[in-house]
Amino acid sequence: MAGEFLPFTRPSIDEETIAGVAEVLRSGWITSGPQVKAFEAALAAHCRGRPVRTLNSGTAALELALRIAGIGPGDEVITSPLTWVATSNVVLTVGARPVFVDVDPVTRNLDLDGVEAAITPRTKAVIPVDLAGLPVDRDRIYEIARRRGLRVVEDAAQSFGANWRGTPIGAAGDLVAFSFHANKNITTTEGGALVLNDAAEARLCEKLRLQGVTRSGEDGMDVDVLGYKFNLTDVAARIGLGQLTQLEAFTAGRRELARRYFERFDTTLGCELPVADFAQSNWHMFQVTLPLPRLAFDRAGFIRQMRERGVGVGVHYPAVHLFGLYRVMGWREGDFPHAERIGRSIVTLPLFPAMTVADVDRVCAAVSEVIRGGLS
Ligand SMILES: *Cc1c(COP(=O)(O)O)cnc(C)c1O
Repeated sequence: MAGEFLPFTRPSIDEETIAGVAEVLRSGWITSGPQVKAFEAALAAHCRGRPVRTLNSGTAALELALRIAGIGPGDEVITSPLTWVATSNVVLTVGARPVFVDVDPVTRNLDLDGVEAAITPRTKAVIPVDLAGLPVDRDRIYEIARRRGLRVVEDAAQSFGANWRGTPIGAAGDLVAFSFHANKNITTTEGGALVLNDAAEARLCEKLRLQGVTRSGEDGMDVDVLGYKFNLTDVAARIGLGQLTQLEAFTAGRRELARRYFERFDTTLGCELPVADFAQSNWHMFQVTLPLPRLAFDRAGFIRQMRERGVGVGVHYPAVHLFGLYRVMGWREGDFPHAERIGRSIVTLPLFPAMTVADVDRVCAAVSEVIRGGLS
């Protein structure tokens, strides 16, 4: 029954990239250097000329975005509770207060009416999250931000390669954070990048990612701001360069697999499917909710039975405000019903460029079999 095990995701690193990495390793310069410069130039070209700086994670990109926007103690930052915990953790690490707003149950992204209603005089920024690579409505979020005087830090960790009305994510807007973690649409193993507004922000980003060091002062060097150790290595940047040349093919491949899911997924099972946005989404994930109230087993039981059939299933993500750290700060069950229900019932089905449509068919058949076996 089970064939070869199909994970929910797997990176595709080609031989050209592997050879390129070997060359970097032999070159004598392995940390931040010429490969980082070249990767940043290629990313800037993708972002239609906006300045881009690489970092050692998407989390670092989000944290530096908040620092560059001047956000700190006393400030409120609005974001989604249905995201990877990094999104709100960085609000806490810069000393500001996260303000969660429930998601739209169809897009699973921030409900923008809710964002508008949550703005107070202390609100300084909003962090929209493009969950699964489905872009948040950029026209509407920037209209709100302009009218209410807010900075926007786009958590585009999952939406590299997606677009809003034809404009690549990152090519427009305020501060845009990407992640190149192993599971993302392009990877550097670990890594990230921040798209900035101008040369001054780019210089501040360079300073903050390396201890706050600036080339000036009496000894040709000074530290005038508290920085971090967030730089990307040349080894990682070389992987990123190799990945970037395949971005279009990766996205096209993911889109084709997503189409197959919509063709083959049994819509009578009671699962909620993602928004079928074939023009804009980069199909970072294909996620469905389970009809848990009608099932004889829980999500863990579903995942176990899928594993038995040779299919890996992920969970992205339980609602952030119900994690212990956030509960002690006062959030509780019932605060954000859509995020909580989706967070409890969502599963990520396999979707990655090296998969075939036959794999999708196999996943759909396994899902049907498992769910039908649990329906009363
Ligand atoms: C992956 C991810 C991050 C963090 O990126 P890292 O590179 O793992 O630090 C932040 N937000 C979202 C939505 C993500 O998916």
